[in-house]
Amino acid sequence: MFAQAAIHGCRDLMRPARPLCNRLSDRYARGKCSGGCRVDETVVIVGASHAAAQAVDSLRREGASGRLVLVGDEPQVPYQRPPLSKKYLSGEMSADRLWIRPATFYEQQRCELLLGRRAEKIDRSARAVTLDDGSRLEYGRLLLTTGSRARSCDAPGAGLPGVHYLRTMADVDLIRPQLAPGGRVVIVGAGYIGLECAASCVKLGLSVTVLEMADRVMSRVVAPVMSDFYMAEHAGHGVTIRLGERVAAFEGTQRVTAVTCADGKSYPADLVIVGIGILPNVELAVDAGIACDNGIAVDAHCRTSDPRVYAAGDCASQPSIRYGRRIRLESVDNAFEQAKTAAANLCGREVVHDKVPWFWSDQYELKLQIVGLSQGYDSVVLRGDPASRAFSCCYLQGDELIAIDAVNHVKDFIVAKKLIAERATFDLARLGDPGVPLKEALA
Ligand SMILES: Cc1cc2nc3c(=O)[nH]c(=O)nc-3n(C[C@H](O)[C@H](O)[C@H](O)COP(=O)(O)OP(=O)(O)OC[C@H]3O[C@@H](n4cnc5c(N)ncnc54)[C@H](O)[C@@H]3O)c2cc1C
Repeated sequence: MFAQAAIHGCRDLMRPARPLCNRLSDRYARGKCSGGCRVDETVVIVGASHAAAQAVDSLRREGASGRLVLVGDEPQVPYQRPPLSKKYLSGEMSADRLWIRPATFYEQQRCELLLGRRAEKIDRSARAVTLDDGSRLEYGRLLLTTGSRARSCDAPGAGLPGVHYLRTMADVDLIRPQLAPGGRVVIVGAGYIGLECAASCVKLGLSVTVLEMADRVMSRVVAPVMSDFYMAEHAGHGVTIRLGERVAAFEGTQRVTAVTCADGKSYPADLVIVGIGILPNVELAVDAGIACDNGIAVDAHCRTSDPRVYAAGDCASQPSIRYGRRIRLESVDNAFEQAKTAAANLCGREVVHDKVPWFWSDQYELKLQIVGLSQGYDSVVLRGDPASRAFSCCYLQGDELIAIDAVNHVKDFIVAKKLIAERATFDLARLGDPGVPLKEALA
């Protein structure tokens, strides 16, 4: 099995250019690769989720032949997080459909799984990680995929039973039995997670109120026209959304009974779900003296300030060639792509990460697919009528399309992905005509 994996890796390496391939395959034959790394070194991955599952696959494909250990503090093999606020919360998807890879995959890849174990400390000089049971794991290379955690709310009463966050399977397994039809759920935060939870809860027959302190929903990521569309969609399904509401306290003695806001209004609640953003898990890196900057700071190769340590996924902030600044993304695609880049570089290739980010959100029958980052847009062009529930919102800088929100419009999403990567410019009048295919609206 292992020899096969190594051969796959070499085949992949042969793709870019023959001279490089010849040089690298010589090094592989000697168990060494470029950049001084050895493909037979022990690789330890800390954090067992999207980025880690991809890294196991990519490392073996890239030819990593040594010991491979995956440490994760959750008890499960890596599972998909997106369904947690969608079909897993609404009960339409069972746990066995969440696994990113079956357990047998890790065996086949000769990856040792240390699950339910937390990495407590990195000793960089000894190249070892200490786990919560006191054991030590030596590494040749270390990959940090520690992801992020839900940002907690510090209002009084936030610790009451019935106040929940939604980040893990364990969180949903606690919440779901409490979702009885007719129950009152208050959701704090109208970002993706809050709104997806609202859609799932209303589907289950609960009475749902969403409290949002901004003046529109999903305000951090979409244009006002999209916020208005989603606000109306939720209202149409019976969800109450209150904007400009800042939570002041969670009321109750034995359990939460209401949420009080700064303006004195009180919202009765049998259950509260708080979705107010996330924080990257950087503490392990910070304590080890690895540079951090809104996440574990990596270079374009996903390498940290310690050349033996790499990072990928939600926990990593990276300078973006495309956006000309350091960014930290919170998406499955980014976790997968950075893990591929890290694995390639860890095995001695020189691969630069330069991808157009994309993301999705499912609410009711609406599939929202977002490509690019819209920050800094100077105009918005709609393709199609939101009332049709299949349209796109294009974000432009001058005549360059920098991002698109495609609602039930897979075609625009796929074409935009390619055109945004190419930094295509558009004839804005044609762009706004939904009858003109996107690629025919180019300037
Ligand atoms: C409810 C929900 C819905 C989402 N929906 C979407 C969506 O629709 N589309 C999309 O693109 N993205 C979505 N996301 C975001 C997406 O899930 C994340 O971007 C993705 O999970 C990031 O993967 P990751 O591997 O970087 O880290 P994470 O998934 O955060 O996993 C990190 C893992 O490392 C563990 N860990 C941390 N520190 C240690 C340690 N010291 N020792 C051992 N283990 C440790 C953590 O417990 C965790 O298990 C959603 C997220 C949530 C929570």
